[in-house]
Amino acid sequence: MSLNYMTPAFIIERDKDRCIDCQVCVRQCANEAHKWDEEEQKVYSEDANCVNCHRCVVMCPTRALSVRRFPLEFRYNANWTPETIRAIYLQAETGGVLLTGMGNDRPYPIYWDHMLLNASQVTNPSIDPLREPMELKTYLGRKPDFLKIKNGKLLEDIPPQLELDVPIMFSAMSFGSISLNAHKSLAAAAQQVGTYWNTGEGGLHRDLVQYGDHTIVQVASGRFGINPDYLKAGAAIEIKIGQGAKPGIGGHLPGEKVGEEVSKTRMIPLGTDALSPAPHHDIYSIEDLRQLIYSLKEATEYQKPVFVKIAAVHNVAAIASGIVRAGADVVVIDGYRGGTGAAPLRTRDSVGIPIEFALAAVDTRLREEGIRNKASLVIGGSIRNSTDIVKAIALGADAVYIGTGALIALGCHLCQKCYTGKCNWGIATQDPQLYKRLNPEIGAERAANLLKAWAHEIEELLGGMGINALESLRGNRLMLRGIGLTDRELNILGIKAAGE
Ligand code: SF4
Ligand code: SF4
Repeated sequence: MSLNYMTPAFIIERDKDRCIDCQVCVRQCANEAHKWDEEEQKVYSEDANCVNCHRCVVMCPTRALSVRRFPLEFRYNANWTPETIRAIYLQAETGGVLLTGMGNDRPYPIYWDHMLLNASQVTNPSIDPLREPMELKTYLGRKPDFLKIKNGKLLEDIPPQLELDVPIMFSAMSFGSISLNAHKSLAAAAQQVGTYWNTGEGGLHRDLVQYGDHTIVQVASGRFGINPDYLKAGAAIEIKIGQGAKPGIGGHLPGEKVGEEVSKTRMIPLGTDALSPAPHHDIYSIEDLRQLIYSLKEATEYQKPVFVKIAAVHNVAAIASGIVRAGADVVVIDGYRGGTGAAPLRTRDSVGIPIEFALAAVDTRLREEGIRNKASLVIGGSIRNSTDIVKAIALGADAVYIGTGALIALGCHLCQKCYTGKCNWGIATQDPQLYKRLNPEIGAERAANLLKAWAHEIEELLGGMGINALESLRGNRLMLRGIGLTDRELNILGIKAAGE
């Protein structure tokens, strides 16, 4: 094609007084946004290659760089926005599906920000978490209908449970979509903090078997890397039916990312595309799902809880009810802002529902059906901070998964280009020159620090409400009030309006 209609998305500004032509930016940018002019003996930029990942800006020793949006204005048109026009130019050139990484970035309402927490005043005084014990411990798994106790002894066999010291786990991200060093960071952080990380659908690298007690192994439609040893290596098994970023479709790891280690771990040929089908080809009904759940329980001698993960979609409450009845110990719901290594842009941005509604609807339905105790509820796909977690638990969640937040702790700057495999922060890449930039020890410390910081904040918030155990907040929607919400929205969330 002779003429490229695309203009750069970003413009790189180099302060000439500060730049010392050291070429750090040239070496740091896998997208070749900075180049060395041999003749002029000067560094220059190619704006069109910049994805705004900030790597050069952060690494420049003289702070000579900044990046901003390319300042090209289109005539104002509320319908034909610059983004819409640019997407058409791109598709007219490539004839391909628009791809993106990370979660839905559309300006849909963030319902967490429309919910406010309660605090104690006068009666039921608040608790000082620095001086009094606070309990964040969480057990995930099926709970019995009632407990038989005789002479102080429990007569009931309790189904297998996962014990979490904090109600936060690292969500599924496969080896292949992210680097081995990113996996090592998350696994070590989970072990340090007393929680779990999740392999995602790409199998378990041999270096990570040592973290098995803190690992959730995933079984997805591609069944990559799955064998009895893999199932037994983890503390729990998660069946992935759906994912918030791309409900209803499968996954695609391009052959370029399937290097030797990924190929061995996934048990697929070197350099071949890893395609996960949209459905599991052995699951077309709740009965089929039940068969898989019980096959996995059988294979692991009924010692491990089995999670089933679905995307938050329109009739999520009925689907979750079926999953609980099929024997899942934990139901995971992934909201439409959930991240991903690669997704078609149109699916990511237009399919699914907010996790806040999905969680409230599922918890309500399971309670109404008298089966809430039969499975724990874990949610993910938009958790940004400790207050989101406290609100999620008050709405009915037992625990949360974090993915994007964890990657940001490792250095991700949300450029959304994970699908290119050229992550300059060493996270969403299999390039040895790039992934070595992420030191797993430093990564583990940063991810663990994030969880510890959030745990402190959760204790503060609980104390402020006069609650000393997370268990007492679970599903306690009286601790929430809505602001700026319609009656219908309040009704779905099952909360009162502020002032009521
Ligand atoms: S890293 Fe900074 S100082 Fe070095 S060449 Fe690039 S802009 Fe100049
Ligand atoms: S993981 Fe890397 S490529 Fe993906 S959004 Fe973050 S910085 Fe960009």
